[in-house]
Amino acid sequence: MFDGLTGKLGDVFERLKRRGALSESDVQAVMREVRVALLEADVALPVVKEFITKAGEKAVGQEVLRSVTPGQMVVKIVHDQLVEMLGAEPEPVDLNAPAPVPILMVGLQGSGKTTTTGKLARRLTQRDKKKVLMASLDVHRPAAQEQLRILGEQTGVATLPIVAGEQPVSIAKRAMTVGRLQGYDVVMLDTAGRLHVDEALMAEVASVHDLVQPHEVLLVVDAMTGQDAVNVAKAFKERVGVTGIVMTRVDGDARGGAALSMRAVTGCPIKLLGVGEKMDALEDFHPQRIAGRILGMGDVVSLVEKAAETIEKDEAERLAKKMAKGDFDLDDMAAQLRQLRKLGGLGGVMGLLPGIGKMKKQLAGANIDEKQLAHQEAIISSMTKKERKDIKLLNASRRKRIAAGSGTTVQEVNRLLKQYQDMSRVMKQMGKSGMLKGMMGGLM
Ligand code: GDP
Repeated sequence: MFDGLTGKLGDVFERLKRRGALSESDVQAVMREVRVALLEADVALPVVKEFITKAGEKAVGQEVLRSVTPGQMVVKIVHDQLVEMLGAEPEPVDLNAPAPVPILMVGLQGSGKTTTTGKLARRLTQRDKKKVLMASLDVHRPAAQEQLRILGEQTGVATLPIVAGEQPVSIAKRAMTVGRLQGYDVVMLDTAGRLHVDEALMAEVASVHDLVQPHEVLLVVDAMTGQDAVNVAKAFKERVGVTGIVMTRVDGDARGGAALSMRAVTGCPIKLLGVGEKMDALEDFHPQRIAGRILGMGDVVSLVEKAAETIEKDEAERLAKKMAKGDFDLDDMAAQLRQLRKLGGLGGVMGLLPGIGKMKKQLAGANIDEKQLAHQEAIISSMTKKERKDIKLLNASRRKRIAAGSGTTVQEVNRLLKQYQDMSRVMKQMGKSGMLKGMMGGLM
């Protein structure tokens, strides 16, 4: 469903030929086209506006990396903005609650709710080895309960025995009791849908919700319905709360924009995609992958990423040289921290040095956590230039000021300084012994 944008944007990016930093007029021209393409892909107007503003701000003045074209650079910026607006990280269905974990499936009739209930139950059973019980609360549509029972039989997932004439809240209550007594890990409740959002539907879903206090409320929407799906999501979110969205019929030829609007307008994470009628046609939602599909320019994106890595490598080499000479200051440490954060782990300078595994661990062990890296960067940037070059200046009152300025504590500032001292001591020793020089061979 995501082919729409690809071809259109390709031409636009081609036209950007000038080197150097991206100019405002170039970026504006491209963003105009991106705007049209997004609207044509069925992205809601306010979402498009926000997208264009943010991507534009990131692009203007951006240095074009060596070895890529300005057009490729913009593709990468547009891609990254797509990823960010799609939620950045995948958010899987969460079962982290006391068993039986209640999952409430909600949505309009025909959205693919029952099918998705079967798919997810099957996956939880087969892949995640969970004991799952499914129950249909749909007493309105004839044969809905029977449909779920048959799906259960096909997929080998247990379903709650059907009791004729029983009302939704009672069925839900019975399902939870059976779930508890018979040791189920998960109880999936498939609620009734309607053709449109109406009060009766919402009231019924709300009363079941109040009773079972579901850990996940998964709203199933049909991607083919585009902007309508977004409105449906808004309505459900306001009335019963939604913890995640499942978009179905992503295998069809719907324009991909609905996914982007959905996430941006409702703020709810898209957790799963339905990609066909078969029981195994269920995918996790990966913002990275979807952004790639919307743009259809995965090659360009990885090209720019590689170019960026080369730049990082140059920077790492510069730092490594400074280290070997023994003049490694807090600015260098900040640069190092930035790299660590970008690489999501230990890399950069240390990664370039062969045979340094043990020290790697020593330096990394404690502080690979993202948040901590960000704190450490903040601490360093709250120091004056002078302080960064000479940490002897950092008396108690200055440390206090730095902690306040960086939103951290004096203890954290002390810890960072200690770490810096440890790092530079190790480096000096290595420099003296010629070890660092030896190891870095070609770099020096
Ligand atoms: P409900 O009324 O919301 O429970 O909808 P159903 O689960 O009965 O699904 C309605 C129809 O949509 C069925 O024919 C399903 O096979 C079909 N369907 C559900 N999910 C998908 C999907 O991801 N892709 C495709 N192509 N069809 C789907």
